[in-house]
Amino acid sequence: MNTIYDCYTLRNGVEIPCVAYGTYKAAADESSRVIQTAIEAGYRYFDTASFYGTEQYLGDAIQKSGVPRKEYFLASKVWKDEMGYERTKAAFAQSLERLQTDYLDLYMIHWPLPTPGYMDWKQLDVDTWRVLEELYQSKKVRAIGLSNFLPHHIENILQNCDIEPMTNQLEYHPGYAQEAAVQYCKEHDIRVQGWSPLGRGRMFGDPLFSELTEKYRISPAQLCLRFAVQNGVIPLPKSSTMERMKENQDLFSFEISEEDMYRLRTMPQAGWSGEHPDRERVYF
Ligand code: NAD
Repeated sequence: MNTIYDCYTLRNGVEIPCVAYGTYKAAADESSRVIQTAIEAGYRYFDTASFYGTEQYLGDAIQKSGVPRKEYFLASKVWKDEMGYERTKAAFAQSLERLQTDYLDLYMIHWPLPTPGYMDWKQLDVDTWRVLEELYQSKKVRAIGLSNFLPHHIENILQNCDIEPMTNQLEYHPGYAQEAAVQYCKEHDIRVQGWSPLGRGRMFGDPLFSELTEKYRISPAQLCLRFAVQNGVIPLPKSSTMERMKENQDLFSFEISEEDMYRLRTMPQAGWSGEHPDRERVYF
């Protein structure tokens, strides 16, 4: 990978850029301004979800940009309270409407369980996945995937599906690299995207960060994002300023050594969001 436009090929042949822009809270000012800046900064792969409330603003920004729809890679997700066969169909239609488009490049199930301890999650996931398969077969989406699914959740899909998931989105950054889940995905040809790839800055004060940012003469954000890229994980950073957006794309003029990659992969847990699909959220 040499630029943010270089792509991985998903198992169905669809090309997916190696770096995305995450839109959670990117329209906190209730406008498309920040997302327009992200388009100007060069991002073309945008990650959104019905839950974020940013689909409308992303759709507006794309309309205003004058850049053809096919140059974008648009990914969205069905939320916890939209799961199940009929609801997912309706949720997808609403996402398309808000995004002002007639297809998505990637559609995902946002979480495997609506709430921790939900008894019937296996059936609910299978019913929801069935809709994604239908959307894929009718060419409304170019690829289908999962988000926050751990290996035991993915196994349930694999045992009950016609079309295997092409992607999985996980919290992923130094200090919370979910090695077991990422390894499982690699073995099953499921491309991982890393959410909160900067850990929202929570690990930036770690001594290993101070050492490595000085060694490579890069920022803590670049260290995190390059870490993802070198592990074949697609980072989805969110930022609000042009300066940081550019910084977050400047990832290809340096390389983290194998030894330092191991140190980042094995550092003590740091920066975890507190979210886990099978547990109540932990607040720090
Ligand atoms: P992130 O790790 O991308 O951190 C974002 C914060 O880091 C920003 O608010 C900004 O203040 C700061 N930042 C950005 N660039 C910086 C830089 N160069 N230097 C210093 N600070 C910088 O966190 P996030 O927004 O939680 O995650 C990114 C995206 O991941 C979201 O926008 C969303 O698309 C996705 N996401 C998905 C899920 C999921 O359940 N699938 C959950 C959370 C987030």
